[in-house]
Amino acid sequence: MNNPLLQASVPDALPAFDLIAPEHVEPAIDAILADNRAGLVALLASPAAQSPTWETLIEPLEAMGERLNRAWGPVTHLFGVISTAAWRAAFNACLPNITEYSVEVSLNEDLFHAYERLAASPAHADFSPARRKAIADELRDFRLSGVALPGAQKQRFKTLSLRLSELQAKFEENLLDATQVFGKHVTGVDALRGMTGQGLALAAEKARVKHLDGYLLTLDYPGYHAVVAHADDRALRQELYRAYATRASSGNFDNTPLMAEILALRDEEAKLLGFADYAELSLQTKMAESAAAVEQFLLDLAQRAQPRAVEELEELKTAARKRDGLDDFAPWDAPYYAEKLREEKLGLSDELLRPYFPAPQVIAGLFALTEKLFGISIAAVDGMPTWHKDVTTYALRDRTGADIGRFYLDPYARDDKRGGAWMDECIGRRHTPSGLQLPAAYLTCNFAPPLNSPAEGRPSSLARETGGGESQPALLTHDEVLTLFHEFGHGLQHLLTRVDEAAVAGIRGVPWDAVELPSQFMENWAYERDTLNLFARHWQAGAAIPDALLEKLRADRRFGAGLATLRQVELALFDLRLHTGGANPDIHGVLEQVRRQVSVFLPPAWNRFPCSFSHIFAGGYAAGYYSYKWAEVLSADAFAAFTESGFAAAVGQRFRDTVLGEGGAREAMDIFRDFRGRKPSIEALLRQDGLAVA
Ligand code: ZN
Repeated sequence: MNNPLLQASVPDALPAFDLIAPEHVEPAIDAILADNRAGLVALLASPAAQSPTWETLIEPLEAMGERLNRAWGPVTHLFGVISTAAWRAAFNACLPNITEYSVEVSLNEDLFHAYERLAASPAHADFSPARRKAIADELRDFRLSGVALPGAQKQRFKTLSLRLSELQAKFEENLLDATQVFGKHVTGVDALRGMTGQGLALAAEKARVKHLDGYLLTLDYPGYHAVVAHADDRALRQELYRAYATRASSGNFDNTPLMAEILALRDEEAKLLGFADYAELSLQTKMAESAAAVEQFLLDLAQRAQPRAVEELEELKTAARKRDGLDDFAPWDAPYYAEKLREEKLGLSDELLRPYFPAPQVIAGLFALTEKLFGISIAAVDGMPTWHKDVTTYALRDRTGADIGRFYLDPYARDDKRGGAWMDECIGRRHTPSGLQLPAAYLTCNFAPPLNSPAEGRPSSLARETGGGESQPALLTHDEVLTLFHEFGHGLQHLLTRVDEAAVAGIRGVPWDAVELPSQFMENWAYERDTLNLFARHWQAGAAIPDALLEKLRADRRFGAGLATLRQVELALFDLRLHTGGANPDIHGVLEQVRRQVSVFLPPAWNRFPCSFSHIFAGGYAAGYYSYKWAEVLSADAFAAFTESGFAAAVGQRFRDTVLGEGGAREAMDIFRDFRGRKPSIEALLRQDGLAVA
C-alpha cells in the first residue's frame, strides 16, 4: 500500500491532508513502532552507546521520534477536527500501542544510562546551553519516573505509581457519580424566577432527556451556576449550594479516605526520590524555585487583594440589604448579588460587542499587530492541502523574506469537530543532518460560522462580505477574541523559536507554570485602544468601538477581582500546604487555617470542598495550583514592559529574542530576567485587576 503516513519526506513538508485516510493509520503506526523498538535495541547495543556523542545518541533518537510524530501528529489532529466514526476508530485502535511505547521508552534503564554517559562525557562541557538543557531535562524526567532507584525501591515506586493512578481515577469517578446522582425536579417555571432563558432551556432539556416534564436542576457546573447566580428563590439557591459543596463527602461516593491515601502515597513517593515532600518533587518541573517562594508569592498577593475584597464583599452585602432586606448574607447569595451588581453597573452583553468583531477583520488585525510587534510578515499560502475548505494555511517570514514557519487556522465550528480552542504542534523546529526543519502549527477555534456565507467564502474576502450587505460575517464575542489571541500566543512561542534542538525548541521544555505566559500576554492587546482600532470596527457602520463601551469592557475585567484573587490564593495555599504537610495532614484543618489567614468570607462548617477538588486530587495540579496566578503575574508583568516603554519597538524585539525565541532552551526565570531586567513582580497584575492602591 502506498501509505502517505510512511512517506519519507523533505524535512518540513506539511502533511498530505489530501491523501491521508483512516485506513492508513494502523499499518503506519504499527510499522513505525516496530522499527523504532528494533532501532532502539540496536542503538543501545552498539559500541556508540557506551561512549555516546550528540550525533551518535541524540540524533538517531530524534529521527525515530520525528518519524512517529509525523505520522501520529496528523492523526491526532484529524481525530479532533473530523471526529467521524472512521477517524475515531483509527485513533482508538492505535492509542494503547502508542501509550505503551512511550511508557517503555521513558522507563528504559539502558537509555537512561546512555544519557548519563553523554552528560559525563568530556564533550558535554562544550555543548550549547540548549543541548545541555535538553540532556538535563531528560535525566530529570528519568529520575522522576523512578528508573534510577535501586531494585527494591524501584519496585515500591512502581507499586505506588500504579496505586496512585487508581486512586486518582477513583476520586474523579466518585465526583462524577456524586454530581450525577443529584437531580432536583421542578415542574413550574415560577419557582425558577430570575434564571436566564439559556439556563431554563438547559434545565428543560435535562428534564426532557429523563422523560420528565418541567425542569431538572443538576450539579454540573453550568447547571449549578445557572441557579446559584440567577434564581431569585433564596432557599433554592441554598439547597443547590449545599448539595454542590458536599459532593463526594459521604455515602457511596465518599472521597474522604481516598484523599488521605493519595497524600500519604505522594509523600512516600517524594521521599523515595530523595525529596523533602511532594511539593519539592512537583516543583522540579516548574519555574518557581521552592515551596517557600510560592508560599511567599501567594501571601503577598492575598495581602494586596484583601482591602479590595473587603470592599467588594461590603458592596454585595449592601446590595442584598437594599434589594431584599437581607441581613444574614450567606455564600449562596454571593454569586447572585454579584450578578445583579454587574448588570446594574456595567450592563454589558455579548450582543453589544459582537458587531465590532467580524472574524476576518479580527484575524487580519491580530496578524497586523503581530507583524508590527515582532518584525515579521504573515501571508496566506494558496494550494496547500487541508482537511476542510474553511482552513487557511499561512506562512511567517522575517524582514528579509526568509521563511520562519507555517500554520493552519481552522476558525469555525463544525458538527464533527471537537469543541474548544487549542494550539498544537504540527512540525517542531530542529536541526537535521539534511538541513534545518522549520516549525508548523495548528490553530483551532470553534467560532460560529458566517451566515449565508458564499460557498467559496474565505476570510480574505472581507470586502465582499462586508460590502455586499447580503451575507453577514462571523461576529465574535470579546471572549472569543481573547481566545483567538490566547491560542495565537502559544503559536508564536512554537513558531518564533530560534532553538535548533527538538527537545527544547518552541513550547517544548517550557515549565508548566510558565507556558501560559505568551498566551495570556497576547490577551492583553484586546483591551488596548490602538490595537482595537486595527480591527474592532462595526461590521456595517465601520465605526470604532466607542470609548464608553471600551471602559465597560475594562471595568468588567476588574469586576470582583479582589474576592476572586483571594479565592484562588486560598485554593493554591491549601494545595501547597497539603503537599508540604507530611504523610498524614489534617485536610480540613489545613483548609480552616488557610481560610482564617487569607479569606474575608468563610463558608459554613459543613462545606466539604476538598472532596471535589479534583485539580489536585485527580489531576496534574498537585502542588501546582498556584500556576494559574503565577502565569497571570508573568503575563501582566511582561505586558507592562510594553506599556511602560510607550510600546517601543525594542521591547517587542526583546520579547521575541527571549521569551518567544528561547522558550524551553534555558531556565524560565533566567529568560524572564533577561527580558524584564529583573525578577517578575506582582504590581502589574494588581494594577490590571484594579487591586493596586492608588
Ligand atoms: Zn493556554
